[in-house]
Amino acid sequence: MNLILMGPPGAGKGTQARRIAERYNIPQLSTGDMLRAAVKAGTSVGLRAKAAMESGGLVTDDIVVGIIADRIGEADCAHGFILDGFPRTVAQATALDGMLTERGLKIDHVIDITADTEALVTRITGRSTCSLCGEGYHAVYKKPAVAGECDKCDGTLTTRADDNEETVRNRLTVYHQQTAPVIEHYRNGGKFKTIDGMEAMDSVFEKLCAILG
Ligand code: AMP
Repeated sequence: MNLILMGPPGAGKGTQARRIAERYNIPQLSTGDMLRAAVKAGTSVGLRAKAAMESGGLVTDDIVVGIIADRIGEADCAHGFILDGFPRTVAQATALDGMLTERGLKIDHVIDITADTEALVTRITGRSTCSLCGEGYHAVYKKPAVAGECDKCDGTLTTRADDNEETVRNRLTVYHQQTAPVIEHYRNGGKFKTIDGMEAMDSVFEKLCAILG
């Protein structure tokens, strides 16, 4: 099963992709996570991506297309994968079509998680993540028992550098201008579905599973 999860920043793609990955035993391919790891490791990709990520803009298509082309060729993708945060431009979607055709693969589901823009700003600016296990927290909706510490493991909570309000608003503008048109690329293919991401996380997950079967 090859799946694309779409939706604006903060809609819950990452959280839902992690849960789907666990339930269906297929890897979550998050270009955001891969780029953050590259920036942290100081690789050439990381150095080229850093400025765009800090401003909330998009990293160039050639970089992310290259990352995904390499990644879907790895052994753990043989039985499927979840694309989380890719494709984000029509050019990326077209490049993805090409690389899938070349490998005799296809996308089975494209699911768009929708959400209200102002709610997204509140959601994103309050969020933090455990640096060890990846569990997500929120300053208002899901506080940890001890401030700055994960409830599930010994990890400390970190906040993404691009989760400040100014950058978040830029990311949302970029989403509406460059990523929303990607929906049109998939809308008429018969594989496209929409889920309301304003609902509770568990309810969104149930609806996703109902679509995936
Ligand atoms: P995310 O974790 O998906 O919110 O991505 C964080 C940042 O990484 C974005 O704001 C972009 O700067 C960059 N990024 C992630 N995925 C892509 C992509 N498919 N195309 C271009 N830039 C991306």
